Amino acid sequence: MMRAGILVKPGIIELRETEVPKPSQGELLVKIKAALTCGTDLKAFRRGHPVIPMPGLFGHEFSGIVAKVGRGITRFKKGDAIMAVHSAPCLACRYCRKKLYNLCENIMHTKILGAFAEYILLPPHIVRQNVFHKPPNLSFEEAAFLEPLSCVVHGLESVPVRQNDDALVIGSGPIGLLHLLLLKEKGAMVSVMDKHEDKLKKAKKLGADHVLLFKGNVVNYNKSVIPRLDRGIQKKLDNPDTPYNDKMLNTPVVVAEIKNSPRDFDFDYVFECTGMPDVWETSVNYVRRGGTVILFGGCKSGTIVTYNTERLHYDEITLKGVFHYTPADVKKAYKLLCNKNLNVSRLISGRFPLNQTQKAFENLSKGIGIKYAIVP
Ligand SMILES: [Zn+2]
Ligand SMILES: [Zn+2]
Repeated sequence: MMRAGILVKPGIIELRETEVPKPSQGELLVKIKAALTCGTDLKAFRRGHPVIPMPGLFGHEFSGIVAKVGRGITRFKKGDAIMAVHSAPCLACRYCRKKLYNLCENIMHTKILGAFAEYILLPPHIVRQNVFHKPPNLSFEEAAFLEPLSCVVHGLESVPVRQNDDALVIGSGPIGLLHLLLLKEKGAMVSVMDKHEDKLKKAKKLGADHVLLFKGNVVNYNKSVIPRLDRGIQKKLDNPDTPYNDKMLNTPVVVAEIKNSPRDFDFDYVFECTGMPDVWETSVNYVRRGGTVILFGGCKSGTIVTYNTERLHYDEITLKGVFHYTPADVKKAYKLLCNKNLNVSRLISGRFPLNQTQKAFENLSKGIGIKYAIVP
């Protein structure tokens, strides 16, 4: 028997005894060594999630040791340390045939959950494409970053970020911070914006060139008038206490948290990492003409946002949605982790045993910590 964390309903995770699964042909049974909490898990814990059924197994970022191999497996043997992601494309649907593997029609309903458990069973399509040997110099916790890093790699693959490009990351949660680490790795100048000051302190520690404290009154945001953040606002930035005029009230008010604020808001790239509709809308205010906004954070289903057509037409800005990852993205993320340049373990706020998974999510719900490791 083994213990597995079950998300029973929003706010309730129960540890239940279940049978240890037996690997069939092409399957791999993995003993979990480390699993990580993720923003998607937190959304599910708080209010439920369309792709995380309840009650059901929970958790999808993990690494571990091969406990048993199914027939026909030659790449792995019992005792191998591995790292993996929880999905893989079918390679047969019309999107897979066009090599749009992240958009595979089957990728979401053939994914697996259950990383907050003692064992997890990996099905053949994942074993064939998205399981890797963990190098000894990488800890199990670092190795468990393969899944979230693959998502971030996928988004960054869609834009040619070069040395000294100006990038703005909106949202200083685990995904925003992974963007920061990867953008710094590419040599970009990175600003991070958030409404929580303590989260910005973390971003600064992790190498953000600038941090911006968001203090917008989005309730009063006038959607019919979306003025561009012009250079006039920069003067106000130097003195955050200056009263704002009427025109500025239509714009989300941004004040610099540190004295050396960015020169202006002509960012080459803006990465939306909050999944909040008002942030999706205002993210276009920070990008330069011809620049690109990467929309990473998923909003609630059914959400509709509006944009000023002038920014898209005369300013030729690109809005790019990104979702999930392809096996090529996973390989890139694997190499990045193996090179150890990103030092992702700095994102882990603490560790909890399996029977305290609930506690880890309660902390995250209260805004305590960024990402926790669950160690069975
Ligand atoms: Zn995740
Ligand atoms: Zn497919």
